[in-house]
Amino acid sequence: MRLSDLTTPTLVLDRGILARNCRRMAERTAAHGVALRPHLKTAKSADVARLATDGQAGGITVSTLAEARYFADRGFRDITYAVGFLPSKLDEAAALIRDGVSLRLLVDGRQAVAGIAARAVALDVDVPLLIEVDCGGCRGGVDPEGGDLLDIADAITAAPRLSLSGVLTHAGQSYHCRDVAGVRRVAEQERAAVVRAAARLRGAGYAVPVVSAGSTPTAVHAEDLSGVTEIRPGVYMFNDLDQVGIGSCADGDIALTVLAGVIGHNRRAGRILVDAGALALSKDISAGEFLPATGYGRVADLAGRPHSGLYVADVHQEHGLIAAVDGEPPYDALPIGARVRIVPNHACMTAAAYPAYHVVEGGEHVVDRWDRVNGW
Ligand code: PLP
Repeated sequence: MRLSDLTTPTLVLDRGILARNCRRMAERTAAHGVALRPHLKTAKSADVARLATDGQAGGITVSTLAEARYFADRGFRDITYAVGFLPSKLDEAAALIRDGVSLRLLVDGRQAVAGIAARAVALDVDVPLLIEVDCGGCRGGVDPEGGDLLDIADAITAAPRLSLSGVLTHAGQSYHCRDVAGVRRVAEQERAAVVRAAARLRGAGYAVPVVSAGSTPTAVHAEDLSGVTEIRPGVYMFNDLDQVGIGSCADGDIALTVLAGVIGHNRRAGRILVDAGALALSKDISAGEFLPATGYGRVADLAGRPHSGLYVADVHQEHGLIAAVDGEPPYDALPIGARVRIVPNHACMTAAAYPAYHVVEGGEHVVDRWDRVNGW
């Protein structure tokens, strides 16, 4: 089967680029002497996870319990669920722990600890926890210098069925760095915060085996990871225009595209219409912070070669409107029914709409189909 045989819109994954991205990250982490616990929130696919964990200890990170169950059922038994945990979800998590999965959950407050502790007793299950540390991203997490860190550790260790596994942070602020020097500064903030939190806990008498950090930009550019035991990047497997803009990768390192069909020419507006709109591409325009003429994605041909200067300038639910940076878009080269591949702005958001990947190996032949787990 060829890409031109597929119904559009659909998701295309280049296995060669994916494997190269995975190999490079594995080499980077090995050079730093830390473990790689890839985050599967972007890929949500066991086939991708096998490549990402190749040569590693096998631990993974997830962002939903649906992912945790899906990966556990496919042999991934060492899982960190890296989103603040809600006690009401413990029934589902407990079922995984009872099935023998080594599952660590994340907390950043005493209330959550108390709720999880009560459910753990009721469900008769032992629950290992990580404390989330804020390294400057201002999302979840405690101040590494604040009193909450030790209070939460006290609460965890005082609870009958809970144990403290360590500390975890994610430098989301790396997504707003303009250059590599900026990402390197954030990578050091990330390292320093989580290592400091671990040191304070150890100073108070707690064992802290896990010191976990990581985002794709900081994992790519960190110069020093001393004191960190593992990193958890995720987007690097696919990469996207956002990562190109930040400087984490080159255009040729993007493994994910959306295959779309040309459905119209609007010569009055100077737009070529495709059947990949907001639902097929997402409305994430994060790459626009750094890259001009990116819109909702850049346009490539069926073989994945860039259509120079073409990008998705606007989207409606099912329509994408392609514009040219200069002048008119090439109506004759892209007649009704022609196929294009759209390079995504933010791979995690784009991939979320699809149940599977059509896998290619550098060309137009579909060599495989890999499923994904969506939902929560
Ligand atoms: N860890 C956590 C807690 C995250 O929230 C994320 C991404 O959102 C990651 C790791 C992976 O980072 P990235 O998406 O930059 O690869």
